[in-house]
Amino acid sequence: MFAGHIDEIGVMVTHVDEEGYLSFDTIGGWDHQVFVGQRVVLLGRSGQVTGVVGKKAIHLMEREERDKVSKVEDLWIDIGAISRAEAEARIRIGDPGVLAGGVIEFPNGRLVSRCIDNRIGAFVVLEALRQLAEDRPRAAVTAVATTREEIASTGGGARTSASHLQPDVAIVIDVTHATDYPGIEKRKHGDYRLGGGPAISRGASVSEIVFEMLVETAETEKIPYTIEAVSRDTHTDAEAIFNAHRGVATGLVSIPNRYMHSPNEMVAMEDLDRTARLLAAFARKLGPETSFVPE
Ligand SMILES: [Zn+2]
Repeated sequence: MFAGHIDEIGVMVTHVDEEGYLSFDTIGGWDHQVFVGQRVVLLGRSGQVTGVVGKKAIHLMEREERDKVSKVEDLWIDIGAISRAEAEARIRIGDPGVLAGGVIEFPNGRLVSRCIDNRIGAFVVLEALRQLAEDRPRAAVTAVATTREEIASTGGGARTSASHLQPDVAIVIDVTHATDYPGIEKRKHGDYRLGGGPAISRGASVSEIVFEMLVETAETEKIPYTIEAVSRDTHTDAEAIFNAHRGVATGLVSIPNRYMHSPNEMVAMEDLDRTARLLAAFARKLGPETSFVPE
């Protein structure tokens, strides 16, 4: 089973006031500063509703307010409504939304978008399957798009996928923090670069056998890679999958991503191709003789 989560971080409408302004809360892990000045797209009862995140203008702030960080409770969403009734005709409490931000291509084969975390993982697992369809493996391979990765400690859709499919082995494809920008302490966060190839995780949430097989596959396929040490939970779908059913041998492969959880995440397209090739080559190695039981 190859798993990429397709849920993304967002906002949720929590209250509509007399004047039609919407209060909101976060879905997933946000730096609240990112909301300031953004446009949002909400999923209203009869379609998309565009809004802007409102904040008091700099000129109207008291001196001490200017030095304060913004919190969602100080912000609101303005959808242009002039009353609660008008807003509620379009929006209900609990409606979700995302920042409005399209995809753009940058020089050097870089892709910029919101929710690269983790639509890109879902893309990579499908690309791996496409490659496998051209040169079919002995193993049955299934790609799954999971949900609730950004919010659930229980694993959400990854657990149900693993319980249903009961795979012999699973690889989770997600993003990891690229550390190739100013101010990152590499001694603390490691050295992961756009264009550096996939990061293969090693630690208690992943099978050492799957890890070694992935590394061996990368070596034989001449795919550049890095190793990512994860000394506790990975905070990905991996925990939900390795704990599902009677336990599943699980690996985690991550694509270096800059500006995680912002509307402008950035990856190198060559890393996407390398990760898909790594997955396809891994799947082609699997046969009835493959064992994931440590000896
Ligand atoms: Zn995320």
